[in-house]
Amino acid sequence: MTTTRAPRIGVMGGTFDPIHHGHLVAASEVAQSFDLDEVVFVPTGRPWQKQEVSPSEDRYLMTVIATASNPQFTVSRVDIDRDGFTYTIDTLRDIKAQRPGADLFFITGADAVAQILGWRDHDELWGLAHFVAVSRPGHVLSTDGLPRDNVSQLEIPALAISSTDCRDRVRRGNPVWYLVPDGVVQYIEKHHLYRSKA
Ligand code: ATP
Repeated sequence: MTTTRAPRIGVMGGTFDPIHHGHLVAASEVAQSFDLDEVVFVPTGRPWQKQEVSPSEDRYLMTVIATASNPQFTVSRVDIDRDGFTYTIDTLRDIKAQRPGADLFFITGADAVAQILGWRDHDELWGLAHFVAVSRPGHVLSTDGLPRDNVSQLEIPALAISSTDCRDRVRRGNPVWYLVPDGVVQYIEKHHLYRSKA
């Protein structure tokens, strides 16, 4: 008799302004290590922690372009189509409602996981997904104070890339080739993103 296991779905939330290879490597490494069937990238709507971000449609389209070649990667509009600020608790509730029976794995970098106890309804996060915190250059990977059974740590290849640095580089006229996927470089150029703001 064959037993079927529940689908294992990674959830990669981010502002993706722009999406870069640090995000993609994190998703790929977690997919491999946790035997995931799919990783859903979820661009935020209005992030509650960040002041000014590019239009959500631009961030969504760059995410689609960046993930298009990987058959395991998909992109969800749940956060950009919801009104108001984006909170991870809502992201996970919506993804869970769309995929009842799936086991969710929320992927987060070392910087973000350190903030998690300040997130809205953080006590309820653990019942919705297993959290995987990945290493990130410049940040100590620690999950102290978080429930052991619900949180894992994963060392991944160190890519010292941030969206902030990518935006700064474009604004100063420096290249972002090889920091972000080629199609994302072309999208940024075509739509004149990051020319006049950080
Ligand atoms: P910004 O510089 O605008 O704050 P960012 O580069 O941190 O952006 P986000 O879209 O905010 O990118 O990140 C989404 C998720 O990806 C977060 O959990 C973050 O910790 C993680 N992440 C981003 N860059 C890396 C990286 N280079 N290595 C590992 N994880 C990363």
